[in-house]
Amino acid sequence: MKEKYLVMDVAKCHDCNNCFIACKDEHADNDWSPYTYAMPWHGHRWMNIERRERGENGRVDAAFLPKPCMQCSDAPCAKANPAFVQTREDGIVLFDLEKGAGQNITDTCPYDAIYYNDEKKVSQKCTFCAHLLDNGWEEPRCVHSCPTGALSFYASEPAEFEKKIAEDGLSAYMDSLGTKPHVWYKNLHRFTKNFIAGQILIDGECAAGVVVKLEGGGVTAEQKTDMFGEYKFDGLEGGEAYTATAEGKVLGKTVLTGASVDLGEFAL
Ligand code: SF4
Ligand code: SF4
Repeated sequence: MKEKYLVMDVAKCHDCNNCFIACKDEHADNDWSPYTYAMPWHGHRWMNIERRERGENGRVDAAFLPKPCMQCSDAPCAKANPAFVQTREDGIVLFDLEKGAGQNITDTCPYDAIYYNDEKKVSQKCTFCAHLLDNGWEEPRCVHSCPTGALSFYASEPAEFEKKIAEDGLSAYMDSLGTKPHVWYKNLHRFTKNFIAGQILIDGECAAGVVVKLEGGGVTAEQKTDMFGEYKFDGLEGGEAYTATAEGKVLGKTVLTGASVDLGEFAL
């Protein structure tokens, strides 16, 4: 049986919110029961975009994490509410509207993906647009509306998708929860990890093509400075000590403590 998977590329998300708006357009005022009732216009973000800024001084970047329900195979919401949370054969997790009437289960999702509808008295969340998929659509509205190609949707045998995870270097968000999600991320490090950056000058000019070496945290990596003399080692773990060197000189030492670091300019 093929299951449904959503892949999000954090590096391609520009926070335009088209996916959020498409989700509103599809669900607000539209009752798709028995899949789900209409989404309230306000308060519900079934496709939520989380934001994180990294860096300091001039060397900063921003990352955006589109975050719907992860459609977990081992779902905490289902474990807590087996009477009305159901997982379909294709992996989509749905709430039975009648059996779940009056049940506010927002606190059973570790991803904060469930919202309570005060008017209808039911818990609601992203359904992967199952009402569309069951009627011939090949992808949910959010994927259809993304202008940057950050979102892609797959119907795949689990074993086949495991290969894709390995080949494309996909990661699960909050992986330590072990929920076996059907939502996977590319370039997740942009949101969850940190970088060490800096700049090299020679005779006051940007020094392009200088080999910079970073050691620490079990990592030894090399890269060349770009046309601005800048380097940036990304995807680094917090809590580790790192040293950056070039041509035998120490550019800087730092211990990452949950934030990215700019080692500043270095005159070589
Ligand atoms: S539509 Fe695409 S680029 Fe825009 S916020 Fe959503 S995922 Fe990001
Ligand atoms: S992300 Fe939350 S709501 Fe969705 S299946 Fe997992 S635990 Fe349930």
